[in-house]
Amino acid sequence: MTFLDKSPIHSAEHARSYYAASQRDKAPFACLEQDISVDVCIVGGGLSGVATAVELSEAGYKVALLEAQCIGWGASGRNGGQIIGGFGEALAGSHDKVEQQFGRGASKALWDMGFECVNIIRERVAKYDIECDLRWGYLDVARNSREEDNLKAWQQELRDKHYSEEVRWLERAETRRVVGSDRYTGGLVNMGYGHVQVLDLCKGEARAAQSQGAQIYEQSLVTGLEYGDTCCVRTAKGSVKAKFVVLAGNAYLSQLSPDLAPKLSSKILPASSYVIATEPLGDALAQSVLSEDFAVCDQRTALDYFRLSADKRLLFGGMSNYSARDPKSITATMSASMHKVFPQLRGVKVEYEWGGHMGIGLNRVPQFGRLSDNVYYVQAYSGHGVAPTHMSGRIISELIQNQAERFDIMAKVKHWPFPGGRMFGQQLMALGMMFYKIRDEIM
Ligand SMILES: Cc1cc2nc3c(=O)[nH]c(=O)nc-3n(C[C@H](O)[C@H](O)[C@H](O)COP(=O)(O)OP(=O)(O)OC[C@H]3O[C@@H](n4cnc5c(N)ncnc54)[C@H](O)[C@@H]3O)c2cc1C
Repeated sequence: MTFLDKSPIHSAEHARSYYAASQRDKAPFACLEQDISVDVCIVGGGLSGVATAVELSEAGYKVALLEAQCIGWGASGRNGGQIIGGFGEALAGSHDKVEQQFGRGASKALWDMGFECVNIIRERVAKYDIECDLRWGYLDVARNSREEDNLKAWQQELRDKHYSEEVRWLERAETRRVVGSDRYTGGLVNMGYGHVQVLDLCKGEARAAQSQGAQIYEQSLVTGLEYGDTCCVRTAKGSVKAKFVVLAGNAYLSQLSPDLAPKLSSKILPASSYVIATEPLGDALAQSVLSEDFAVCDQRTALDYFRLSADKRLLFGGMSNYSARDPKSITATMSASMHKVFPQLRGVKVEYEWGGHMGIGLNRVPQFGRLSDNVYYVQAYSGHGVAPTHMSGRIISELIQNQAERFDIMAKVKHWPFPGGRMFGQQLMALGMMFYKIRDEIM
């Protein structure tokens, strides 16, 4: 059984996650059952689509957003909820290399966008008063001196670039106080990053767009797209005529509508990641596990990521998986990882398990592009999209408002299709991941 069986692909329901169970606003949006005309039609109601809808409706555009299931149904409502800055640094491993490849202007723009994306969340949550358990404080943990050196180099780069948020190195004892585990030798705290009930964030932003005049539709799978000066986007029960179309279906686009934009699916692989949520730990145990309520990631390629929820459950995620096969039991597999980090949680009940698909690109840089003069797409955040999706919304909105500068920086990056097509590519990536898992364990 896969997570999609548990949340059937054509079902109106969310995956049975902690997020869906604790979602504040469960009221649905309508299904599209008529023919309408707008300026911009957005396909996909994850954070990319919703953030784009907010930006454009705030700018006065007439917007319709079509979501096949419900808002936040895809990766956006299933992830670890960790808000981490950065936008495209993965391109060549560091800003210096970005500068060599694309020039100083592009490097600076990427750097700035990496922080702007977090600020968009901060400002939007405040502006629209979105209740989503937003907390600040994030910790990158190291397991050995090699990882410590990398994190310290990153801290130096932040200092050199005058990053304004508090970033501090924690020695082993202090790390042990913040994360109740013997596994880590040090850590880098960043008070500019944080965590959030991400389904509430996504739904709250959809409501914000609606309050600015955007029309938001759920249960409205897009099955057809006719190109032209005015495009026509079709669903089973209606259609949208639009001057611009934005495809924001990411890893789910080719699964839900394989014929809509096949060119996009060749550049993206859907990799799975899984999360469990324990029962509420109570104040004392929660304090012993994560005393400062930070979100935490380790440095491995197939990383562990964890944090507390507002009601003090541990949300523990990981196990990036390219094999297209889900584990027999998500709870058993993820509990084993959790107990390696927190042996004190043996005996604590796991109440939710779920998984989702994230879009992985070969170079791990978000993919932007034009399918025609007025049909644009963004996809492939490679497991790091909660904050970057907000930058995408802004960049696409700027493009539609005739400011193509930042879009063009991103669109210039070459994204090659996976060698051997999707099936073979999936196997290659699974092999590659196995290599990195072994390397991470022995180095
Ligand atoms: C388990 C997991 C954990 C993760 N943890 C983190 C984390 O802690 N921090 C972080 O930064 N990132 C994390 N990520 C990545 C992050 O969730 C994604 O990068 C981000 O949510 C992508 O948003 P999106 O809107 O582009 O795509 P999605 O959220 O996948 O949204 C795409 C939407 O498009 C809809 N759609 C597709 N095709 C159609 C169609 N034809 N018609 C209508 N609608 C359509 C789908 O139904 C879906 O709702 C994680 C991902 C997963 C899966």
